Amino acid sequence: MNYLLSYGGGVNSTAMILLMEDTCEFQEIFQELHIVFADTGVEHPETYAYLDTMDAYLSDREQRLVRVAPEKSLLEMCKERNFLPSRMSRWCTKEVKLNPLWKYEAQVFTLNPKSEKVQLMRFIGIDAGESHRVRVSGYRHIKQRYPLIKYDLDRTACIRLIERRGLPVPKKSGCYFCPFSSRHELARLSIEYPQLFDEALRLEQSVNEAWSERKEPFHLIQGLPLEVLRQKRDEIIARYESKKLKKEMQPGLFDSLEAEELEEKLDSLPCLCGR
Ligand code: SF4
Repeated sequence: MNYLLSYGGGVNSTAMILLMEDTCEFQEIFQELHIVFADTGVEHPETYAYLDTMDAYLSDREQRLVRVAPEKSLLEMCKERNFLPSRMSRWCTKEVKLNPLWKYEAQVFTLNPKSEKVQLMRFIGIDAGESHRVRVSGYRHIKQRYPLIKYDLDRTACIRLIERRGLPVPKKSGCYFCPFSSRHELARLSIEYPQLFDEALRLEQSVNEAWSERKEPFHLIQGLPLEVLRQKRDEIIARYESKKLKKEMQPGLFDSLEAEELEEKLDSLPCLCGR
C-alpha cells in the first residue's frame, strides 16, 4: 500500500500530520507517508515561511516534506493567458495543485488503475466542520481518507492541537492573489508585501485591458478594483479589527466548559481508534 498526505501549509493539513503522528491507527504508517506540498510559485510569503517550520519539525521525526510544482507558476500561466482565476472559474486548483500531485503519484508509486484493489491512500485535511467538501477519488485503486472528520476535529480543535505541540499556528495558506482572499487579507498584503500587491494589481489591470470588451470588468474582489482597495485599506483593516474585537468580547461563544471538553477530547485522541 502507498500513502500520500496532501499538505497545504495551513491549519487543517498541519493538524492532520500531528493527528496521524499521535493516533495509534496511523502511527504505524506515519514513516511511510509521502507528505507532499504542491507549490504554485505564488504562495503567500507566510506559507513559504511555515513550510520551513514544518521541514524542521518533520526532519526531527525522520520524515520530510516533498515539494512539487507545475511546469509554470500560476503567475506565469495568468500572464500568458491574460486570465485570472476567479470564484466562478477556479481552474487554478486543478492545474497548479492537483496535477502536480497526481504526476508525483504516477512517478513515485507503481499503480495499476485496472486493479480492483486499493493501492494508494490519500489523506486529505478537511475538518469536521466542512464535511460537505468530502469527495471520493473516482478510482477503485485510490482511496481518499479524511482523518480530521473521522476523529471529529473541527477548526478550533485543529488550532488547539497545533498549539499544544508548541508549533506556531499557520496563517490561512494560499496564493497571494487568490480570488478567495478577503478584502482584509488583500489590504494587509498591500501594507506588508507591497511588491506582491503591485504584481496582483498589474495582473488585474492587464487582464482588463486585454478583455476590454467584457461588459463587467474583472476584479479579484468583485466590484472593488485593487487600486481602490489600496486607497481604502486603512478603513478596511479598521472595520475588520473592530468586528474581530466585538466577536471576541461576545460571551458564551467559546466558554470554559467547551474549552475543557476540547482539551479532554485531544487528551484522549490516541484511544479513539477503537483498538
Ligand atoms: S489558493 Fe486560490 S489561487 Fe491558489 S490555487 Fe488555490 S484557489 Fe487557486
